[in-house]
Amino acid sequence: AKAGGRNQVCFFDPSLQAEVNSRTSLLRDLRAAVELDQLRLLYQPVVDRARRVLGVEALVRWQHPERGLVSPAAFIPLAEQSGIILQIGEWVLDTACAQLSAWADDPVRKAWTIAVNVCARQFNEATFVATVEAALARAGANPAHLRLEITESMLQSDLDSTITKMRQLNDRGVRFSLDDFGTGYSSLSYLKLLPLDQFKIDKSFVDDILNNRKDLAVAKTILGLASNLGLGVVAEGVESAAQYELLATYGCEAFQGYLFCKPVPVEALPRQSSI
Ligand code: C2E
Ligand code: CA
Ligand code: CA
Ligand code: CA
Repeated sequence: AKAGGRNQVCFFDPSLQAEVNSRTSLLRDLRAAVELDQLRLLYQPVVDRARRVLGVEALVRWQHPERGLVSPAAFIPLAEQSGIILQIGEWVLDTACAQLSAWADDPVRKAWTIAVNVCARQFNEATFVATVEAALARAGANPAHLRLEITESMLQSDLDSTITKMRQLNDRGVRFSLDDFGTGYSSLSYLKLLPLDQFKIDKSFVDDILNNRKDLAVAKTILGLASNLGLGVVAEGVESAAQYELLATYGCEAFQGYLFCKPVPVEALPRQSSI
């Protein structure tokens, strides 16, 4: 900090300036990313207790010419703030639906669902339902094979319109998972009102589940609640056989994590029905 004129203090923090510059250039590049065809979808299998593949989660990446493969953590928040998430989200839906329809004739993959992450900014658009329906229609994909992953943050604004949108899509066969469950602030009374089909136990509860009794308690509570509400549960971030076995002991029926498969390009997905 450098003292300027009277009552003036001028701060100059080079690292802050660098951050502002890099954000500005990232945002400029992100605006062009969809048109320049720089987005990629990776897919990570979700398996049942017998390691049969139930479906995959679509996870977006940005193939930047200089920065390389950029992870969603590095650009989704910026995309959300700037509104670019709307174009990105539509691209993800279109690509996932096209993939579903390409799998319709595959003896193994025709049974798989694709789960797509949806953020609050997208979901809260008045046109959200129409956007999803249009993506399904363009691709000729079966709505029953599409799953949308929403988060608790979406349940904070207009609950009536959230329920209406979810019902409209659910009536067509689209299913909903509550992602990262337990990390947000959902009111338990809301949960029974929503046409949800599944909870996802966040990786942060799975990481230390073997050593931390509180994490185990949270996981068990989610599994118990799901069972009482008649919902399924997917545990994410399962990296060891011991985590998988422990979760299975407490009734978890679906699993996702590096133990089974990392997120991979479509060509690298398993061809067989169990992994
Ligand atoms: P998420 O929905 O919680 O996705 C799970 C994240 O955990 C993914 O990170 C996945 O690669 C990672 N993961 C899965 N299994 C393991 C494991 O065993 N070990 C470890 N270390 N990590 C594992 P990713 O792909 O970096 O995605 C990060 C987040 O970005 C996602 O978290 C999701 O919130 C968001 N995201 C990804 N794709 C999209 C998208 O298309 N649209 C929106 N709105 N958000 C997206
Ligand atoms: Ca997710
Ligand atoms: Ca998740
Ligand atoms: Ca997570």
